[in-house]
Amino acid sequence: MTCLLDTLPAEWDLGNVPIYRREQIAQWVFERRVTSFADMTNLSAAMRKELAAQYTLQPLKFVRQQGSGDTTRKYLWQLDKGDFVESVLIPASPDLFGERADRFTLCVSSQVGCAYGCKFCASGLEGWKRNLTPGEIVAQVMEAERAAKVKINNLVFMGMGEPLANYDNLLLAIEIINAQSPWGVGIGARHITISTSGLAPQIRKLADEPRQIRLALSLHGASDAVRGQIMPVNKKYPLTELLDACKYYQDKKRKMMTLEYILINGVNDDPSEAALLVQHARRLHAKVNLIPYNKVDGLPWERPSDVRIDAFAAVLENANTPVTVRREKGHDIDAACGQLRLKELKAST
Ligand code: SAH
Ligand code: SF4
Repeated sequence: MTCLLDTLPAEWDLGNVPIYRREQIAQWVFERRVTSFADMTNLSAAMRKELAAQYTLQPLKFVRQQGSGDTTRKYLWQLDKGDFVESVLIPASPDLFGERADRFTLCVSSQVGCAYGCKFCASGLEGWKRNLTPGEIVAQVMEAERAAKVKINNLVFMGMGEPLANYDNLLLAIEIINAQSPWGVGIGARHITISTSGLAPQIRKLADEPRQIRLALSLHGASDAVRGQIMPVNKKYPLTELLDACKYYQDKKRKMMTLEYILINGVNDDPSEAALLVQHARRLHAKVNLIPYNKVDGLPWERPSDVRIDAFAAVLENANTPVTVRREKGHDIDAACGQLRLKELKAST
């Protein structure tokens, strides 16, 4: 059976149900947020039956939610065939979760597992299992809104998986998420960020799309020597090729992109890398987001001392490169960047 969320509402094939009913059905799905065709009370019983025989509406099953002391929440979803993924909900202000908080960011997964095997990341440890369907991506947003009873304002594709390796499903999902109610979830492209480990051809392809989606590049090394040590993808798309693709993106979109840079003690945190990073950021008109490494069980990497982190950041600041140090949320529930992993998802059920 097909999931209705896998297709743009304007292209729904409704079988014997007349096409002009699309708008009513879209209202039920995206405005009223019903989860069953039986609830679509302005359709005849025959139509509801016809739709229910063809389509499903909920590709994700809620398994559990983990809150944390600093109010970041992690949702575990079960997919069709016993696979699992997670999404992480981050309130804009950590103290204001619930009634008073009004800005929410959802960190969305794009694949089950990840094929790219970055040496520091938990998501790639068990390899790649499968791509998420468009509906499974869209449903993470809708189900998180349902579970948390909030409206989500921003999306970041920084959960499990490499979004640009699931390009077509990702773009279709974004189209549905983008579309104004009742034809979609109604989150603007400018509020959606795709984070990539650096698939240069797909970055160029994305640049040619009409949408103003934001791009974040997981750089993590400012020279091939350093980056190549921790990110195997750097062999396929070395820095020159990758940064040229990002430059192309920037020239096309004219939006400030983000360079993400994890700081791992003794690996990529030398001030000489910071100096190179300044040059890349200048060329791309990018801001830099420094992420002190989040410990992953079984991996040897450590976060640098605060003194070293500050020294690295100072090189950027002194060069007037916009830089933020991301103090992570959600450590205590392993919901911080790079801590989502397949093995634990399986073990947890
Ligand atoms: N595959 C994409 C998106 C998912 S990872 C990408 O790599 O960009 C989201 C971010 O978390 C990336 O910048 C990734 O490099 C970072 N990350 C991975 N493991 C981490 C860890 N242990 N600590 C901090 N950040 C990590
Ligand atoms: Fe995959 Fe991104 Fe993790 Fe690398 S950092 S293994 S690309 S999820």
